[in-house]
Amino acid sequence: MGRIGGRHDERGFEGVKPSLTKLRVVCAVMVLRRIRVFLPLSLLMMSGLVLLWGCGSSSNVDFVAKKEPWRSAEEQACIASGAVRQSNFVRAKSALGGPSVCGTESPYEMSAANGGRVSMKPPAMLRCPMIPQVDRWIAEVVEPAARFHFRQSLAEVTVAASYACRPINHQSGGRLSEHGYANALDVSRFTLASGEIITVKGGWYGTEQERAFLREVHSGACSTFTTVLGPNYDSNHKDHFHVDLARHGRDGLMRICK
Ligand SMILES: [Zn+2]
Repeated sequence: MGRIGGRHDERGFEGVKPSLTKLRVVCAVMVLRRIRVFLPLSLLMMSGLVLLWGCGSSSNVDFVAKKEPWRSAEEQACIASGAVRQSNFVRAKSALGGPSVCGTESPYEMSAANGGRVSMKPPAMLRCPMIPQVDRWIAEVVEPAARFHFRQSLAEVTVAASYACRPINHQSGGRLSEHGYANALDVSRFTLASGEIITVKGGWYGTEQERAFLREVHSGACSTFTTVLGPNYDSNHKDHFHVDLARHGRDGLMRICK
């Protein structure tokens, strides 16, 4: 079984970055409510100060997150809809949980897309809504782009990251990444049937064919995912595409494609 998790992630977004102070307060209140013993006022204040700086942790980094009921509701609706059918390459796994709000209730391990024809290595751990969207992107955008630009079928995509309970860009004290909800995927390279490999890092400014292929793959993702980040966004994304199904903006309908 391959590695699940990874190195990269999205940054906070212009215009939609939540107030971390506000989130920290939410976190602190959530945790404090669970403390059902009376403490001396001074001790309580000290606890509060600590909690304000994070109510979750992953290995040695802390993050902040708020409770978002839409996540569970969306996951349950997805499962009930039958949008994901289990197969040899999409398998239900046991719940990912903790610490704190990380994880998802009914994750799937996805090891191939497009009817099993395109391998995903290492397998990605993703929540239900991501599975059909990743499959659609690979089957309807990446595969046709490979055929158009290289006259070959697509054999494999390299998964740089999927589920990982960590803050955005691994910055301790930051907002929990969509990777922490198994709601994001990072892809770093594409392997054609001939064995030829197109990397995001090398191909984004590579040959004319590579550039055209990768830009089509990136822009095509924007009609499928609510967040798509690539090398044009920042240096953290110079070697992979990040795609996720986060909700942005006041109405949750805003899309980010950079
Ligand atoms: Zn990412």
